[in-house]
Amino acid sequence: MLAEGPRCRPETGGRDDRTAGRQIVLAMITDADGRLAFANGELLALGGWRWTDLSGRLWHEVLIAPEHRRRVVRAFDRAVTRKDGTACVEAPIRTSDGRVRVVAWMATPSLDEAGRATGVTSVGVDVTRWTEERDRLAAERDFDASHDRLTGLPNASTFRWRLGSELSAGRRAGRSTGVLLVALDRLRTVVEALGQEAGEQLVAEMAERVSDCVQAAAGRTPSSMLPAGAADPMNAWMVARWSDDEFAVLLPGLVFPEEAVYMARSIVATVAAPCTGSTAHLRLSAAIGIAVAPSDGDNPATLMRHAAVAEHAGRMSAEHMVRFELSLSQEAEGRLLIEQQLPLALERGELSVAFQPEVDAASHRIVGLEALARWHHPVLGEVPPVRFIPIAEEIGVIAEIGQFVLRSAVRHAAQWRSDGLGDVRVAVNVSAHQLTDRSLVAVVLECLDETGLPAHLLELEVTESAAMVDAQAAAEVLGELARQGVTISLDDFGTGYSNIGKLHNLAVSTIKIDRSFLLEDEANPAADPGALLHAVVTLGRNLGLRVIAEGVETEEQLHRLQTQGLDAYQGFLFSRPVPAAEILRLLREDRPLGSESGIQIA
Ligand code: C2E
Ligand code: MG
Ligand code: MG
Repeated sequence: MLAEGPRCRPETGGRDDRTAGRQIVLAMITDADGRLAFANGELLALGGWRWTDLSGRLWHEVLIAPEHRRRVVRAFDRAVTRKDGTACVEAPIRTSDGRVRVVAWMATPSLDEAGRATGVTSVGVDVTRWTEERDRLAAERDFDASHDRLTGLPNASTFRWRLGSELSAGRRAGRSTGVLLVALDRLRTVVEALGQEAGEQLVAEMAERVSDCVQAAAGRTPSSMLPAGAADPMNAWMVARWSDDEFAVLLPGLVFPEEAVYMARSIVATVAAPCTGSTAHLRLSAAIGIAVAPSDGDNPATLMRHAAVAEHAGRMSAEHMVRFELSLSQEAEGRLLIEQQLPLALERGELSVAFQPEVDAASHRIVGLEALARWHHPVLGEVPPVRFIPIAEEIGVIAEIGQFVLRSAVRHAAQWRSDGLGDVRVAVNVSAHQLTDRSLVAVVLECLDETGLPAHLLELEVTESAAMVDAQAAAEVLGELARQGVTISLDDFGTGYSNIGKLHNLAVSTIKIDRSFLLEDEANPAADPGALLHAVVTLGRNLGLRVIAEGVETEEQLHRLQTQGLDAYQGFLFSRPVPAAEILRLLREDRPLGSESGIQIA
């Protein structure tokens, strides 16, 4: 019986040109002890033997190289003792001139009448070429399984495996092991804009740069000056492709954890250098997370998770890199919870809208109401918008939340109006993502249409930074809304780019001066906070815009504002954001806000 699979695939032709095209069958007969009783001419020719060299000798001693003897003999013995057929054995034969040929043998025992094995008849074919090809393919397969096809770098599973063994070695030697997770920041945008091929070209170029950078640094760092006998960091430092747009760098045997930081700094610089070839006009940037064992984690999974958390923080840091610390992890866990829970918040009815009055600067009566999203989670409690709005933008649920707030605000305003409580304008915050989406116009018009609220009683608040993400698209969307009569205001004015020239394009009619302009400069108490405020108000006035001050908290701030000639105020001094039912009460009372605390009307 033949063993299954390609192990027994015979080779046709192959021994040399003389016999090419003809199948060469080798044959030998051995007695019960394994002594050679017969070898055919083909076998003798293959090995360069004469029959007298072989006759009567133990076949495996002459034919088989010592290191393979045990295995081959055991396989042949099995064939003999099984007595029930043919066994297939692959045996490397050592020829008389020292070459090795691999022969696939089929061994059949000869039995006497009593069923005892009297010897073995073996026929074989030379499969040397085929086994070489098989081994080459297997090596290739091993390389493919452990390396990234595009960059030729080790892949993530190889990295994880190496990290595991370096961590054990580091523990024994009492040394730190650093990992860097290097994210190519704008790669996804490049792929979207220029296609997959350009993206791959960039990844390959960056892989080379990062590898060169790590190689070069390995020779210069204190770790490379380890005493003789210590692991050679030149070989041990490793760069791998971790994901589509991330590389992982392994820095074992660190003398100082700070070496990982120096390394990260060099990588940030090398990635930021201009690209070459067809992408020469591009510049990428890297965000790097650094984690160093044992302090930041002592197993591969924890260390890599912490590096990923630090990488996320690195994206937002000025230096483009952050070393892991525990607070980052807590922050990341909280963030993860919000990411999971936020998409469910709308379905579960956990979101609501609060309204904060804007009061007329002269009368302190309500002239507008800013709608602000509120999220009450059954376990997390009140999650502030500064926490969940940026996450909503990142995970792509801001449009739904924005629409919920818009519908709710417009519906309430229409209701208050039809209840005879006057024409109060509602302001709704709009994020960058919504601004570049043309469907915003349709949604706004539909809301107004459904409720009958006149367009001029709806104000949309945008921040400068949101409007600048895609200034062209924002200008188109806002321009269209303004033409329909909707008011546009610029929120947190003075904190963004403050590119006054752009305000005109954005169809803005109101600016809301950020509350930071009302605060004392703690670092510089002598500075006159009024001077900057005055400059900003004057700027708005000169552009013919309505000017509102946000975040008015104290009477002292109000006094300062009263000399500036603003149109309206908004802040805790007058009212905190409150539920719609409370607004209904305030509108019914129709009196100056803040008066109960004795605020003087200017
Ligand atoms: P914002 O649009 O500038 O809203 C004003 C924020 O300042 C509100 O914070 C408000 O409660 C707070 N504030 C008002 N008066 C005072 C004061 O006198 N002192 C202090 N310290 N703060 C005051 P809130 O509600 O936490 O919202 C924060 C930010 O979240 C908003 O800033 C806005 O950017 C964003 N946001 C809230 N709701 C939404 C929404 O529905 N959509 C979008 N895209 N963003 C929203
Ligand atoms: Mg606002
Ligand atoms: Mg604001």
